[in-house]
Amino acid sequence: MTEHLVLNYIDGRKVPAIDRKTFENINPATGQVIGECPRSQLEDADAAVLSSERAYKVWSKTPLAERSAVLEKTASLIESRLEEFARAESRDTGKPIAVSMAVDIPRSVANLRFFASAVRHDQTGCHAMDDALNYTTRSPVGVFALVTPWNLPLYLLTWKLSPALIMGNAVVAKPSEMTPTTATLLAEVLTEAGLPDGVFNVVHGFGAEIGGPLVSHPAIRGVSFTGGTSTGRVVAQAAIGDFKKLSLELGGKNATIVFADADLETTLAGITRASFLNQGQICLCGSRIFIERSVFNTYRDGLIKRAEAMKIGDPLEGTTQLGALVSHAHRDKVASYCELALEEGGEILTGGKPPNFGTDLDQGAWFQPTVVSGVSVASRCATEEIFGPFVTLHPFDDVDEVIEAANSVEYGLAASVWTQDVKKAHRVSAALECGMVWVNTWLHRDLRVPFGGIKASGIGHEGGDYSLDFYSEAKNICIYTGPSN
Ligand code: NAD
Repeated sequence: MTEHLVLNYIDGRKVPAIDRKTFENINPATGQVIGECPRSQLEDADAAVLSSERAYKVWSKTPLAERSAVLEKTASLIESRLEEFARAESRDTGKPIAVSMAVDIPRSVANLRFFASAVRHDQTGCHAMDDALNYTTRSPVGVFALVTPWNLPLYLLTWKLSPALIMGNAVVAKPSEMTPTTATLLAEVLTEAGLPDGVFNVVHGFGAEIGGPLVSHPAIRGVSFTGGTSTGRVVAQAAIGDFKKLSLELGGKNATIVFADADLETTLAGITRASFLNQGQICLCGSRIFIERSVFNTYRDGLIKRAEAMKIGDPLEGTTQLGALVSHAHRDKVASYCELALEEGGEILTGGKPPNFGTDLDQGAWFQPTVVSGVSVASRCATEEIFGPFVTLHPFDDVDEVIEAANSVEYGLAASVWTQDVKKAHRVSAALECGMVWVNTWLHRDLRVPFGGIKASGIGHEGGDYSLDFYSEAKNICIYTGPSN
């Protein structure tokens, strides 16, 4: 008997997969099966897209004030059930409840509220000519497929869903098979908030079985995908044939650059957070840490001390700082990099193995926060996305050297720079090949700013006006005002 039955959500109803197949949802903190999920296929994608196409006709003509009110109400309803959403997120992902309560769910609420209001302050261009006036309108696109990963399930889904809905589109969401619960909860809440049936449909299942058919469905007009770079390549191929709008937020291997003049305590706190928040499973985490040689030992020792002091344990315990990894397979992947680090000439300074709880938690997908030094900047450990609580340390001697090292990976998502020298901060930030740079902070987000990576980290930006642009079609209307011929 399973505790939590998650279902697809199509046309305002919870439904199983058409062929009734299911798969197990596992709590990674305990290794226990906590529920069942529909294992959807092509025919489920067809049903969801058809329903969304029908709903789009109504929603795209619904007044903006009504669309905005639905998002506002959804935000309030989630807020009123904050703990329920947070517990579901922690159970699916293994993340500490303190993180779900303070980051995942509040940020989901903020996404909905931000876009509910942003569109009301939006301005489009007006370009006057001597004999004509051009103005620009934005129209809805159609049905979007939103495909999301497991690390920040509701946070990333609402980041895409909110601008998609406010611009008048309908949506079919495909959440990660590892973290299905909050997407279906969200669908229920949207219905309660007055969203017409079919405007938001959810299909669960595996990437190749339901994600692929969904993104390549001919009636899907736009795809927003967040996930790994290799999956992003497959999704791009599937979407490009029909000229769908496409946004890809992919992997990263982000540099943390610490100069000797940085404030020691602030920087240590900041780089520890950038290393291990959400068990290092955030695309923006700083997993290659460059430290100016004169302060290398100080930061190395400080980071080790802080990593060892982190409280690792039951995700549903309020004081836990480090939870489980998302799955055993992912934990094993992270662990394999510890063996590789030794082969690559590195030394594991702390961590490198699962903790030993002596309780049921030992069946879960755990790994200690791990700090490695001695591997080269070009090593696999320092260039491949590991996406876990695993960081490598690298000393450097001058600014040009560290810029070159930071840019020497295929990814270009984010970086953080720690220095009190403003000129140096500007110079290094400008030279870094990535979409986002934080100076003396990390993951400090304003929802208006462009979010997105370059190189193998993705295509396009979302956030503020960038999202409003992506989830709409711009149209130029040119009115001739000159003399009649
Ligand atoms: P993933 O690529 O394995 O899966 C992401 C989603 O794509 C899942 O829902 C999956 O089922 C689906 N999928 C898999 N194959 C598919 C296919 N052929 N067609 C359509 N959909 C398919 O990624 P993950 O392991 O869930 O997440 C971790 C990755 O996500 C990391 O690489 C991380 O850096 C990245 N990520 C990036 C950002 C960003 O904003 N750049 C944010 C969070 C996570």
